[in-house]
Amino acid sequence: MKTGSDYETYETVIGLEIHAQMKTSSKMFCGCPTTFGEEPNTQTCPVCIGMPGVLPVINKLALEFTIKTGVALGCKISPFSRFARKNYFYPDLPKGYQISQYELPICEGGFVMLNVDGAERRINLTRIHMEEDAGKNIHEGAGSFSYVDLNRAGVPLMEIVSEPDIKTPKEAAAYVRKIRTVLRYLDVCDGNMDEGSLRCDANVSLRPQGVKELGVKTEIKNINSFKFIEKALEYEIQRQTRVLNEGGRIIQETRLWNTTAGITESMRSKEEAHDYRYFPEPDLVPLIADKDMIERIRKQIPELPDEKIQRFISEYKLPAYDADLLAAERHTAAWFEETVSLGANPKDVSNWMMGELMRLLNEKGIAIEASVLRPAHLNGLIKLVSDGTINLKTAKTVFEDMFNTGKTAEEVVKEKGLVQISDVGELEKTVEVVITENPNETARYKAGETKLTGFFVGEVMKKTKGKANPKAVNEILRRLLG
Ligand code: ADP
Ligand code: MG
Ligand code: ZN
Repeated sequence: MKTGSDYETYETVIGLEIHAQMKTSSKMFCGCPTTFGEEPNTQTCPVCIGMPGVLPVINKLALEFTIKTGVALGCKISPFSRFARKNYFYPDLPKGYQISQYELPICEGGFVMLNVDGAERRINLTRIHMEEDAGKNIHEGAGSFSYVDLNRAGVPLMEIVSEPDIKTPKEAAAYVRKIRTVLRYLDVCDGNMDEGSLRCDANVSLRPQGVKELGVKTEIKNINSFKFIEKALEYEIQRQTRVLNEGGRIIQETRLWNTTAGITESMRSKEEAHDYRYFPEPDLVPLIADKDMIERIRKQIPELPDEKIQRFISEYKLPAYDADLLAAERHTAAWFEETVSLGANPKDVSNWMMGELMRLLNEKGIAIEASVLRPAHLNGLIKLVSDGTINLKTAKTVFEDMFNTGKTAEEVVKEKGLVQISDVGELEKTVEVVITENPNETARYKAGETKLTGFFVGEVMKKTKGKANPKAVNEILRRLLG
């Protein structure tokens, strides 16, 4: 039995395989649509249900998407690559093999940079290859049967494989987030983890501090949320630590994350693992990616998140936090820049976007590009605040109104009579009423309890329905009470 002082301290090693469904309208090797959520088996044809004698045809857009991703992530694009058959038997795989890439993938190498807790980290990629998705076995609600839905069979996937460079569960989640952001910028994958458009297998092992050799790994399959990536890895690291500390051995195996129990469970060990008998796909010609093609695709790559964040910081003097948030999504970043281009102050725009706008979009489940509130609306609102027509408090209600109705700030302010009261004579009268109505607070204020200012301003706001100019009210209060 080991005691506490005998325990080794271990270093965690993580490598991820991300499966990203490509945003093509048709499948990898046939013309069937890829729409999510259709009636089972309505999006199938002889090719994707594996009828004998049919021939696959490569989806050109899927190839271009993969090359685009490879170029964006700094991979080497192989001039010559080919598909392979990965053989195994499972009811969701009607051909008895999956067409994938094996010894000659289309992209090799590459990397992403992460910033985790203030530290810059480079995570290298091993490769990116193309493959087709399998169908889906449905066990729930099928009694003693299982159903098979082949709508997803043959949908184009990119598999992005990282080197074992990741050191913590938090880094793993940050890595997936970064990949997802890039894929969405490139518009090659919608990144929707709930619908399974992006899922990941997490490989993890431990080794004693200072040891170079990698330990035996386990692989947690098909994780479909950022939260679960962290949770599953945390659990698995604890489990492996316990096994090793108790003098046990880690067995190489595939495990599944059990969401309800919050644990990983053994699915199959390496001994039961498949021998996939990979061999080159005889029905498809090798892929030739020539220089012209790669250059043409390179030109389509937009400014990527890392560059955009840096530019937002230098060009608009935004704090890194703001730049990070605004550049996380292409449409959000464009919305920000459009508003600024209309003349609004960048930090004002950022504050409104990170605050009210994102809150309302989240609440209502609306994408920014679909919102009726456009950059011109926000620009108009910011103008009304800075020229003193309305105060910031009123502006928030105007914002919500614009968001719900698509009316301009001027329209809302006019219709609802929200123009700020800055007239000193009028405000003085209200302040005087508040003072007479609150003799106790007035006495306490005069005795030195100046923090009561907030109380008086609040009372004035109540009486003016929030329309009083707070700066003017403060001045008047100081004058009349001081
Ligand atoms: P397999 O043949 O089991 O699929 P691969 O060598 O293809 O393993 O690697 C799959 C993933 O696992 C890669 O992301 C790789 O970085 C990662 N990986 C490989 N070995 C280890 C290890 N010992 N610990 C953690 N991750 C690993
Ligand atoms: Mg593998
Ligand atoms: Zn088909």
